[in-house]
Amino acid sequence: MINLYGLTLQKLESLMLEEKQSKFRAKQLFTWIYEKGVTNFDDMSDISKSFRDVLKEKYCLEKPAIFTKQEASDGTVKLLLEMKDGAKVETVLMRYNYGNVICVSSQVGCNMGCSFCASGLLKKQRNLESHEMVGEILVMNDLLKSANEKITHVVVMGTGEPFDNYDNVIDFVRIINDQKALAIGARHITVSTCGIPDKIRKYGQEGLQINLAISLHAPNNELRSKLMKVNRAYPLEELIPAVKDYIDHAGRRVTYEYIMLKGVNDSLEHARQLCELIKPTYAYINLIPYNDVLENGYHRADSETVHAFMDYCLKHGVQTTIRKEFGTDIDAACGQLRAKQEGKL
Ligand code: SAH
Repeated sequence: MINLYGLTLQKLESLMLEEKQSKFRAKQLFTWIYEKGVTNFDDMSDISKSFRDVLKEKYCLEKPAIFTKQEASDGTVKLLLEMKDGAKVETVLMRYNYGNVICVSSQVGCNMGCSFCASGLLKKQRNLESHEMVGEILVMNDLLKSANEKITHVVVMGTGEPFDNYDNVIDFVRIINDQKALAIGARHITVSTCGIPDKIRKYGQEGLQINLAISLHAPNNELRSKLMKVNRAYPLEELIPAVKDYIDHAGRRVTYEYIMLKGVNDSLEHARQLCELIKPTYAYINLIPYNDVLENGYHRADSETVHAFMDYCLKHGVQTTIRKEFGTDIDAACGQLRAKQEGKL
């Protein structure tokens, strides 16, 4: 059974041609699926009975099931979703003043092995399919429907490394961005990577106006390799030129994410090195208050230290912001996603 939620309009059009249908059928199906929210082929009244039977036999429209739901005092919602094979992933809704932001997981577990991150404590079991990522948004939209709201912004910053699941993530982005599907504007979608140079370059050539965020977290190789295993394979002298190529091709500014870890990467000397390092790239810095993960011994930098770091970067001409926090009382904050209910931790 092919899950239609995982097909871009272009792929659905080719499929319709294979089914000896007109290409237009694909647009018709998209309207039923996304605009009208129909999940049962028999409700698609302008599609012939014989083709509806074909659809029922070979295709499905299945969304993940809600295994648990937690709501924080600030309105943040964290869902543990269960996929058809029993795999479970978390997805988080954050209510910013400018819209409803969903933080989407891209893999079940993660193999990148960043030493500060809780998600990576659960090794990768598999990639998520594009229909499962689309499903994360559809399930959240179903919850928001009663309040007459919907998801307006998407960040692929949940569990997993999106560029370790490149093709599915790109299909996912194309589907949610499609005017005939969820119509989420490209500038409202951000993919965050730990820094895989060839995929960063490829992403720049997709012709998408999607935002790119790079998890940097350290301004030199020695420290970055300690914090992020991926830096041993792709050190800064490979990462930064790839980001530069991305910017040249896509014409888009990038954001560097930088977790502030007390006594580890938070000094003004680190800020100096950071500004120097990213100079060749057209970029913002987003400083992330670290959320303590019990097992690893890292701690959040003091607020004054974070502000001094930000002031240094601002004075040196780099636009810098501090990430707003959500859902801390339900472990829904950055890096805290992990399927605790699985009993693995
Ligand atoms: N693999 C991708 C996306 C998932 S991680 C990436 O590395 O970008 C999303 C962001 O959360 C990354 O910047 C990651 O470094 C950060 N993060 C991980 N653990 C964190 C923690 N405990 N506190 C704050 N941010 C964390």
